[in-house]
Amino acid sequence: MDATFLEKIKSDYPSIRIIRGKRFAFRPPRTVVYEEDGPSLLFLHEMGHALIGRFDFRTEVERLKIEALAWEKARELCSLYRVEVDEELIETELDSYRDWLHQKSRCPDCGLTRFQTPDGAFHCPRCDV
Ligand SMILES: [Zn+2]
Ligand SMILES: [Zn+2]
Repeated sequence: MDATFLEKIKSDYPSIRIIRGKRFAFRPPRTVVYEEDGPSLLFLHEMGHALIGRFDFRTEVERLKIEALAWEKARELCSLYRVEVDEELIETELDSYRDWLHQKSRCPDCGLTRFQTPDGAFHCPRCDV
C-alpha cells in the first residue's frame, strides 16, 4: 500500500489504531490491521468496520448486515481517497463469506441448512423438533 495514503488515513482518523500485520482485520473496538502489500480497497473495508462502530452481532444475518455496511463505508472512503473500487474483488470477498456462512449453517447430522434464532443458536428444521 502507498505510504502517503496510509499516513493520510492515519492523520485523518487519529482515534483508530492502524497497525501492520499478516492479514487484514478489524479488531473491535478501534484497531485496524493492514497487510503491507495488500490492496487499499480491503484496507478501506476494515476502516469501514472501525468507522461504522458496529461490531456486536448475535446472528449471521446481523453479521451480514454489518458486512454490507462496512462495504458501503468502504465505497465512500474510496471516492474520498480516490481508490479504485474493484467490484470483482468485492464479489470474491462476499462469495467467500457466503461460502463460509453456508458451511457454518449446514446441519452436521443431516446436511440441511439450519436457521438461527435471535439468541444466536442454530436449529435444524429436520433434527431439532
Ligand atoms: Zn468485513
Ligand atoms: Zn439436521
